[in-house]
Amino acid sequence: MIERAVILSTGDELTTGRIVDTNASYIADQLNQIGLEVVAVLTVGDVPQRLEWAWRNAIALADVVISTGGLGPTTDDLTTETVASIAGRPLIFSEEVANHIRAFFERRGRQMPENNLKQARFPQGAEIIPNPIGTAPGFRLEVSHEQRTVHLIVLPGVPREMKPMMEQCVLPWLKAQRQGATVTITRTFQTFGITESALDEAVMQVISPDEARVSFRASFPEISFRLTVRGEPQTAARKLEELSERIRQRLGEYIYAEGETSMEAVVGELLTRRGLTLAVAESCTGGLIGHRLTNIPGSSRYLKADFVTYSNSAKIQTLGVNPTTLERYGAVSEQCVKEMAAGARHNAHADVAVATSGIAGPDGGTPEKPVGTVWIALDANDMSFARRYQLSGDRGWIKLLASQIALDWIRRYALGLPLDRSLAFRR
Ligand code: ATP
Repeated sequence: MIERAVILSTGDELTTGRIVDTNASYIADQLNQIGLEVVAVLTVGDVPQRLEWAWRNAIALADVVISTGGLGPTTDDLTTETVASIAGRPLIFSEEVANHIRAFFERRGRQMPENNLKQARFPQGAEIIPNPIGTAPGFRLEVSHEQRTVHLIVLPGVPREMKPMMEQCVLPWLKAQRQGATVTITRTFQTFGITESALDEAVMQVISPDEARVSFRASFPEISFRLTVRGEPQTAARKLEELSERIRQRLGEYIYAEGETSMEAVVGELLTRRGLTLAVAESCTGGLIGHRLTNIPGSSRYLKADFVTYSNSAKIQTLGVNPTTLERYGAVSEQCVKEMAAGARHNAHADVAVATSGIAGPDGGTPEKPVGTVWIALDANDMSFARRYQLSGDRGWIKLLASQIALDWIRRYALGLPLDRSLAFRR
């Protein structure tokens, strides 16, 4: 049974850092999706000894090796020769492939350089994988290694040639080989408002280590975790669903999404679904909320305006904040953010508005309002709510975290969840 895979990327461009190995990440993702475990990704330059080293190690580790690169017509394209030599097979000329390459050049009205016929030679016993776009076909070859069969799959390096070959030939073939096999399935949960340790504890309370593998990834200010379940396809799918339900029960509103997405994308989807429009008024976040929202294609459907009002005079002139409010309470105050949110909503004719005002530091703090003091407000026709947060971190962190809370408030408002429980998960 084919369980373990090694991906082999070849080419001096990769080892010198001139290009990024996107082939390996694409192939790894595709293999993971059909339940194969990628045990290693090896990268070597176009040097015969190193290629041979990589191929030998790959064969020792894997049931299937998928390589990209080194199939071109030039003398530094060494993949086919290396594979033939390791497998102990002679190279056989394929008249059919040669005709295909000749026809490729004729269609373009070009003379075929003789060295292109190098691409029509394959190790004896190889099954040819057609290349619908370029000249170099790939091939699949079975070799024996310590009483195991190892499948060597050789593909060109050019991503737009390699991908259709993967999709049309390699993946269907692999799936057919793996009928009834054990699969690995995963689900990712995106959370906000829980510390990593509290999250770890909460998840471990509902899932035991023998049921699933749980891996956490903290990418400030969000923490995601992934459940991985192995088993026969249907049983594994049922198990994953059951575990997911336990997670949802335990963490509820602190999960803002399942799968790979962002808070701003979730907010956009919710506003669109509810038919709500939004306005933003930003002081300490300096446009970051608007920037994040407008990173999402289609945000013009719901975002009406983002007012970046950094100075007191801008707050007064643009948002209609009362000068007396600023004199009496200051810009970083409940009264001011509430007026900012109300002014933004009114000016933009939006259904809902959020506002931020705070001290991102490193200067500007006072004993009553130290660095990290941030007020956030949300204004809608049925509510006007503000809360003070004491955030820690440097200027960038405070701005980012404040923008995240504001976005979480919009999510919570659209879902009818309490705003004041954002960032409030306790053990
Ligand atoms: P060709 O017939 O074009 O020579 P080849 O199979 O010999 O194809 P390479 O010469 O190794 O492939 O690579 C051709 C091009 O494909 C590279 O210049 C690079 O742009 C791209 N490429 C190769 N390997 C990778 C990779 N691992 N990830 C992303 N791009 C790659």
